[in-house]
Amino acid sequence: MTQTTDRHTARRTAVGRSYRRIERPKDNQGIPLRISQYYGENTFDYRKAKNIPEAVKKELDIIATSNKPLPKELADVVAKTAMEWAITKGATHFCHWFQPLTGSTAEKHDSFLDIKNGEAIENLSAGQLMQGEPDASSFPNGGSRSTFEARGYTSWDLTSPMFLLEGVNGKTLCIPTAFISYTGQALDIKTPLLRSEVALSKSAIRFLKAIGQETARVQSNCGTEQEYFLVDEAFFYARPDLVMTGRTLFGSLSSKNQQLDDHYFGDISERVMGFMQELDYELHRLGIPAKTRHNEVAPGQYEIAPIFDNTNVSADNNQALMATLKRVAIKHHFVALLHEKPFAGINGSGKHLNWSISTVEGDNLLNPGANPEKNYRFLTMCSVMTEALFRHGGMIRAAIASAGNDHRLGANEAPPSIISAYLGDTLERIFTAIKEGKAVTSNNDTSMDVMTHQLADLDKDNTDRNRTSPFAFTGNKFELRACGSEMSIGLPLSILNGAVADVLEDTAEFIEKAVASGKSADEAMQEVTKKWITSSFDVIFNGDGYSDEWVVEAEKRGLLNLRTTADALPLFVDQKRTQFLKDQKIFTKDELDTRCNVLIERYNTLREIEFETLIQMVNQHVIPSILTYKKTLGDVIKVQKDIGFESSVEPGIFKKLNYTTETLFNRVENLTNGLRELPEDGTKRSKVIADTLMPLTEEVANLCNEVEELVPDSLWELPKYYDMLFLR
Ligand code: ADP
Ligand code: MG
Repeated sequence: MTQTTDRHTARRTAVGRSYRRIERPKDNQGIPLRISQYYGENTFDYRKAKNIPEAVKKELDIIATSNKPLPKELADVVAKTAMEWAITKGATHFCHWFQPLTGSTAEKHDSFLDIKNGEAIENLSAGQLMQGEPDASSFPNGGSRSTFEARGYTSWDLTSPMFLLEGVNGKTLCIPTAFISYTGQALDIKTPLLRSEVALSKSAIRFLKAIGQETARVQSNCGTEQEYFLVDEAFFYARPDLVMTGRTLFGSLSSKNQQLDDHYFGDISERVMGFMQELDYELHRLGIPAKTRHNEVAPGQYEIAPIFDNTNVSADNNQALMATLKRVAIKHHFVALLHEKPFAGINGSGKHLNWSISTVEGDNLLNPGANPEKNYRFLTMCSVMTEALFRHGGMIRAAIASAGNDHRLGANEAPPSIISAYLGDTLERIFTAIKEGKAVTSNNDTSMDVMTHQLADLDKDNTDRNRTSPFAFTGNKFELRACGSEMSIGLPLSILNGAVADVLEDTAEFIEKAVASGKSADEAMQEVTKKWITSSFDVIFNGDGYSDEWVVEAEKRGLLNLRTTADALPLFVDQKRTQFLKDQKIFTKDELDTRCNVLIERYNTLREIEFETLIQMVNQHVIPSILTYKKTLGDVIKVQKDIGFESSVEPGIFKKLNYTTETLFNRVENLTNGLRELPEDGTKRSKVIADTLMPLTEEVANLCNEVEELVPDSLWELPKYYDMLFLR
């Protein structure tokens, strides 16, 4: 049989590609520029702009970190300087760049063109820099009241640098903005994140003050580790499921996949390396500090991690990174799949959020320091973290809920959907001792010795850590590993910040009272540490998060196990569980309702698109290839009969094929009917989708895979896992 399907053409295209080369910038002597020489050349930060007077910068700094209004004159200086800079770089347009609740970014472009006295000029006014008015009604609003006005505005975020978006034929100056309704409701992801930073700073300053330390501001920091897959463009466009849903809805696993663990940290192929080099180059020009790049566990899977920054900048950078990843991949005829689970049966992709809390001066409160045995502040902070997770783990789980992430959490490759904290052996031993009253006071010499000794082992723990934990202490930061690869990180970070702020408030109050009653700050900190450790001990788990025993054990401990998005999202409207977010002024009740509705609607819509696509693919691809094969088999059987030859092979295959097809046809009918009968109410709809229709689609997928394995390779139209994961 000749190999003439689209898939075979795609194969030849994919393996025959030549490598894309780019010209790296050089200096006058032809020496390649260092990263530091072009780093950030496509960003504009007023703090670093040479043409802005120092006095103006100082004033802007104060405004950026307080609630003071921004005077027009100051904004005008920035607007004029930013525009001149952008124009010199070749920009013709500007846009307010924001993060609506879709989870991606939105931009509305305006040219710098203005007509003054009949003359064409370039202009960017203070007003245009500070505020824009996209039509709020076209963005998801979850039926919130304010959107009946259909009016919202974008507002310049001074704390995040502007950047140039480069298109094939021009450039646009992007201004990071918040997106708010005229009634003050946050219509985006950034606004609550900024509010959570304010809440965290306020409570942390109070805590530090209570223990006798002063600082002007405290911030949270985040470093993201972004995983993704690369598949050749030719395969991507030949798979309707990848194009429509970002993941393969079925596909038979190739015999070799990740069993040999030979991809992780392995040799990076020439073509992929070429892509990564251009990606890093573009990110560095954008002022995104890309640091680490490597192969991940699954074939075709990779990771990129920039150096951490404050969470707001880090969240913006991650959005820009994801967009750049996709854009550069296309230039190399790859498609970057950011979906959490593009391929069943091998690892999915996550995004580890490395989180820490520090003063503006850079003093990391989670740093064990050189004398950790005396570092009561560090121990207190760690206990605050476990208490925060104990109180609000459910909300953190809800914040990382999505259709894509449902395939990872609990699938023995990613942290489970039960939120627990891993501290490492050393800290856990210390915490156990503190809880049992063995190391509470500093005059208990023996246990202090033990502590000194054990804390010295912290580094060792850090290298040998538990990969199965959703929230792990890693040396001087906590790592939230349950976040999905495709998600915008602002939502989980604002919830995490809020959770920590909530406990820090209580911590500060406890210490203030203890100190007022004559205790030393050190004594107070030891007491509060013991208090939090004792109350939150159940959330600490150092064992294997993938094991079935943990599910049983977690239930005994009373920890939530919210398996699916449909189970998790209703927490957003649980008054008790969300009270801390309202207390911390991070979300209003309306905003939480809105998010719940938007996220449920999004889950339902994504799943329904998956179901429709699956049904179409079965009807248009799987069944037709069965028919072709059946025809061939039928012909052979007929010829054999005609010449009087008996064979059980062909009728055997025919029967098997027929049986599988009938079952497949039947399941697809069930799915079609199920789709038709879905309840109107969003929450009920999501439950039926998650609990009834999803298992049905898994059956359909397995049947398709059986067929794929039966039908001759030459007849199979759709790119196989083998093609997508190994051919490049
Ligand atoms: P891993 O071993 O998990 O890959 P790395 O040390 O390489 O850890 O760091 C992973 C990410 O954590 C990077 O983005 C890094 O910049 C970030 N990171 C390091 N220190 C901190 C910190 N104090 N706060 C927040 N993020 C941090
Ligand atoms: Mg990590």
